[in-house]
Amino acid sequence: MKKLLEIHCWDCRLRLEPDDVVNMDEIYTLTHDFCNSMGFEIEDTGTYEEIAKRHPYYYKK
Ligand SMILES: [Zn+2]
Repeated sequence: MKKLLEIHCWDCRLRLEPDDVVNMDEIYTLTHDFCNSMGFEIEDTGTYEEIAKRHPYYYKK
């Protein structure tokens, strides 16, 4: 089974859990939906796991 990278929210610095709802911006930074983004355009929203399914970059190699 593929494992998600251990990524921390850019704003609050907490580690993202697979079912946390997050925003992914155009430079692939992840922030919780309830946190502040870096200000770049938001490209995708969903749970961290859903985002990783659409953007396999977030899975460990
Ligand atoms: Zn956060």
